[in-house]
Amino acid sequence: MELRIAGFVKDSVVDGPGLRLVIFTQGCPHNCLGCHNPETHDPMGGKIINAGELMEIISKARLIRGVTFSGGEPFLQAKALAYLADKIRARGLNIVTYSGYTFEQLMNRSISDNDVKELLYKTDILVDGPFQLEKRDLRLAFRGSANQRLINVVDSLKNERVVLWDDFQPVCINA
Ligand code: SF4
Repeated sequence: MELRIAGFVKDSVVDGPGLRLVIFTQGCPHNCLGCHNPETHDPMGGKIINAGELMEIISKARLIRGVTFSGGEPFLQAKALAYLADKIRARGLNIVTYSGYTFEQLMNRSISDNDVKELLYKTDILVDGPFQLEKRDLRLAFRGSANQRLINVVDSLKNERVVLWDDFQPVCINA
């Protein structure tokens, strides 16, 4: 299984809770004004890497708490990332996925796209929605603009409503 990535970092503390390895996927259709990663937009850019090669890198990062799929738009490569997520979770690591799509949009797409469903269901925390420059807020943890939510995916699916992730103290809001 292959992925097209822009790159990765082995020791981030700003892309989800705890020390994390971050994979920046290549290709993004959202074109958010003020995007910090414009080099990730071209779906033919970046480089191809094998999932096995990535797992070797992940297995050597012994201090990480989880792996983050960032972008780019990870859901463009949902099949390969869901495959990778399985292997990562089997090592006891959690998954944070960033997306320019909202949770509700991804739930809708899940009805007809099983790969999207698989990646969404294997994600522990979804950081959802596009970056909105007018809502930019540097005080926010793990996200750039106030419209983006940190969503506890497991509890949201269980409760059939959006449950926000708040350092293990979920806050329920109506969907
Ligand atoms: S979704 Fe992310 S990578 Fe894509 S344009 Fe928006 S900020 Fe940039």
